[in-house]
Amino acid sequence: MRQFDIIVIGAGPAGSAAATWAAKLGHSVALIDKATFPRNKLCGGLFTERSRAYYTEIFGQDFDLSRAVTRRDISFFYGGQELSKLQGVPPLHLVMRLDLDDTLYRHAIFAGAVDFTGRPISQLSNNTVTFRDGETLSAKIIVGADGVNSIVARHLFGTAFDPTTIGFGLEIEVPETTLPPQALPLRIDFAAADWGYGWSFPKQHSTTVGIGGVHARNSDMKSHFSTYLKTLGMKPSEIKFKGHYLPFGDFRRTPGQGHILLAGDAAGLVDPITGEGIAFAMKSGQIAAQAASEALKDGTENTALKRYQTGLKDMHRNLRIARALRRIVFSARWQQAFIQTFRRSGTVRMMYMRLLAGEMEYPELARSVLTRLPRYILNGFRRSS
Ligand SMILES: Cc1cc2nc3c(=O)[nH]c(=O)nc-3n(C[C@H](O)[C@H](O)[C@H](O)COP(=O)(O)OP(=O)(O)OC[C@H]3O[C@@H](n4cnc5c(N)ncnc54)[C@H](O)[C@@H]3O)c2cc1C
Repeated sequence: MRQFDIIVIGAGPAGSAAATWAAKLGHSVALIDKATFPRNKLCGGLFTERSRAYYTEIFGQDFDLSRAVTRRDISFFYGGQELSKLQGVPPLHLVMRLDLDDTLYRHAIFAGAVDFTGRPISQLSNNTVTFRDGETLSAKIIVGADGVNSIVARHLFGTAFDPTTIGFGLEIEVPETTLPPQALPLRIDFAAADWGYGWSFPKQHSTTVGIGGVHARNSDMKSHFSTYLKTLGMKPSEIKFKGHYLPFGDFRRTPGQGHILLAGDAAGLVDPITGEGIAFAMKSGQIAAQAASEALKDGTENTALKRYQTGLKDMHRNLRIARALRRIVFSARWQQAFIQTFRRSGTVRMMYMRLLAGEMEYPELARSVLTRLPRYILNGFRRSS
């Protein structure tokens, strides 16, 4: 049986970050994925400045933007009507996950992680992983970074996520048009889904069009998507789309058990307003690896989870505030007031943009919303009387 300090299951943003960081700290690391890279992942591919900063910190170099589309303009719509067209917003980078995840995985292997990609798992215990071909690996600590349907989370808790709070997204990749990517509209449509939104994100050779929202509040997401595609001038009957769950505001308070830590989507770490998950996946992978390393160096593997939880404190606080604020953006009661304020106030639009682009964190936004709330409520009353 081959032995490692750390086994990382899943080589997406969370797993590749965890494996890279652990290997850089001098540990023996096995990086497992059922897929062979490059592999695709359903995603809008918005790579924020937050993602870029974490990428630089973890992988030791700036992100190569030559294969991304960087935009500083965006349009917002509500029910098909344009709310606002903004220029000079903080940079928004749009990447293909096929490229991004392959780059991240290669970093991990280059840093020294041993490659077990393309190897489906048949069995998992608290310290061992057995592949379908019968080979077994063992480690002192396991990091489960195997996404929203995590088998590691299922092993620990019996279920990967809570079906009453999970999000769901549908997407299509519209092939290259004759227009250059800088000329294609970059847009977000509030109300394309309930408790969610729609998007059209131009890439270098295609455009990703999708909708996502809280699954339990969208019993017919497909019909929402058909309506959205029609709004964009497409014929839904001719288009095949794909769907994927995304954690949307319901992270695991205790992200693991015993010697097993969960990172990224497996730990529910996605922004419940914007749907951003790549940055939190990479950062949580790094924090998990750091916690595992410190515990291993002290010879106290059983302290890794506590250390990891402490390291995640700021991220958890951020996501908790976002979850409280999202009522204002998405609930039927507040959404009209939010949309009116968004339409009228340049400050609110810029705050939303700084949030979307990863320049602002929720505690700062919450302070700003609280100082504006009385005016916001008063305007709501004036309009309804
Ligand atoms: C429709 C949609 C749009 C989104 N748009 C954006 C966006 O624009 N920007 C953004 O920041 N976030 C976006 N997200 C969220 C983002 O995609 C995720 O938060 C992010 O991919 C999480 O990374 P991860 O490494 O935790 O998991 P993943 O990226 O899902 O990687 C998990 C890895 O684990 C592997 N795996 C799974 N099961 C097993 C198994 N049994 N054994 C071994 N390996 C396994 C998979 O093959 C995969 O490689 C979107 C999500 C959806 C669904």
